[in-house]
Amino acid sequence: MTQRIAVLGATGSIGDSTLAILAAQPHTYEVYALSGYHRLDKLFALCQQFLPKRVSVPMSAVDDFAHRLKAAGIDSDVVGGEAGLVDIATDSQTDTVVAAIVGAAGLPSTLAAARAGKRILLANKEALVMAGKVMIDAVKKHKATLLPLDSEHNAIFQCLPLAIQQDNTQIHQSNHGVRKLWLTASGGPFLQQSFEQMQQASVAEAVKHPNWSMGQKISVDSATMMNKGLELIEACHLFDLPEDKINVVIHPQSIIHSMVEYSDGSFLAQLGSPDMKTPIAHALSYPDRMDSGSQPLDLFALSGLEFIEPDLQKFACLRLARQAMQAGTQATIVLNAANEIAVAAFLDGKIRLTDIANINEQALNDIQLPPLNETADIEDILAIDKIARHLTDKLVAKLT
Ligand code: NAD
Ligand code: MG
Repeated sequence: MTQRIAVLGATGSIGDSTLAILAAQPHTYEVYALSGYHRLDKLFALCQQFLPKRVSVPMSAVDDFAHRLKAAGIDSDVVGGEAGLVDIATDSQTDTVVAAIVGAAGLPSTLAAARAGKRILLANKEALVMAGKVMIDAVKKHKATLLPLDSEHNAIFQCLPLAIQQDNTQIHQSNHGVRKLWLTASGGPFLQQSFEQMQQASVAEAVKHPNWSMGQKISVDSATMMNKGLELIEACHLFDLPEDKINVVIHPQSIIHSMVEYSDGSFLAQLGSPDMKTPIAHALSYPDRMDSGSQPLDLFALSGLEFIEPDLQKFACLRLARQAMQAGTQATIVLNAANEIAVAAFLDGKIRLTDIANINEQALNDIQLPPLNETADIEDILAIDKIARHLTDKLVAKLT
């Protein structure tokens, strides 16, 4: 049977990789719905190519976009705003939701997909950083399936025992001999440069990742290693482990995508070319395998694999992520919100790259909130997110 896919964030980098795979397998997958936010010309071209039944755009663009499609003879239902995203994520015709919106904006639709019991291919790590418990509870309660697209988490998933893979919302890893998880990190474009050089980095230098081609926000997060911090928090929720069971190792070649360490001394790793099409194809076809179209890894062309301990002074964001995870969900929401604001300010040329960690640290220290209780829901989370964004705006204003 054809799997009907809704790609939320279709115009982004994960959207590109996903749609390249879907285009090559039209009999297995139907592109049922697409969403886009900024590059609506690109979204229009995707509609011409895939003829999705439903499309979501910003609320202010609904009428124009619907007219444009109609004039081109494309009969898609156009919806708008957050409600539109939730609508296509929960549509009874949607089988699989690819959650590939960047940042907190992706949380409501991702959570709605979980509550509608969908198969979710999760790229939007910020949803778990903000609302890990609420998300995982919803997945369990509504029998949704959550498969990680983030290459590290997808690698770990592949290296875990089948019993855990098939029940990935209820992992008791001690029972399966899992001792630790190892998240690999490339170290980003400034690995070999001094802190002072990093301080002077331009936007173009910061978004130029050595191994991966990605959206702007995650590229900046990779340069500060906040990305690995967010991934650490993501892994705690996905794999039900405390942060001290998850190590981070810099592996500049990005060939080993992450590892699971077992009590008998075995380390299982997943290797591959740095191409998001591999984890996306894995999750799309799981538990089968499919051709992803990625370049096979050329082992003979590899000159060596290195492993380096991260410098937590230079990459303070990684330290902050552990600190926030220990403090609790209220702190991870604050860290995520502060980081989104700080990254946007850097991309706007308002602050230096190294100010991002300072702002994140100040936000974590200044915004002291009581721990969220067991019954906290999305409204409580979004309320903290709003407070944190407001106060971080002020921290940025002080610097500019
Ligand atoms: P991107 O910037 O290339 O694309 C983001 C998508 O989200 C676009 O379609 C954009 O239109 C949409 N979007 C942005 N703001 C929105 C808003 N306010 N409302 C609705 N839609 C909005 O980003 P990306 O690199 O594709 O990353 C997407 C997510 O996947 C991020 O959470 C990122 O951390 C994660 N991820 C990306 C990669 C990668 O290789 N690119 C790898 C692992 C995880
Ligand atoms: Mg990753």
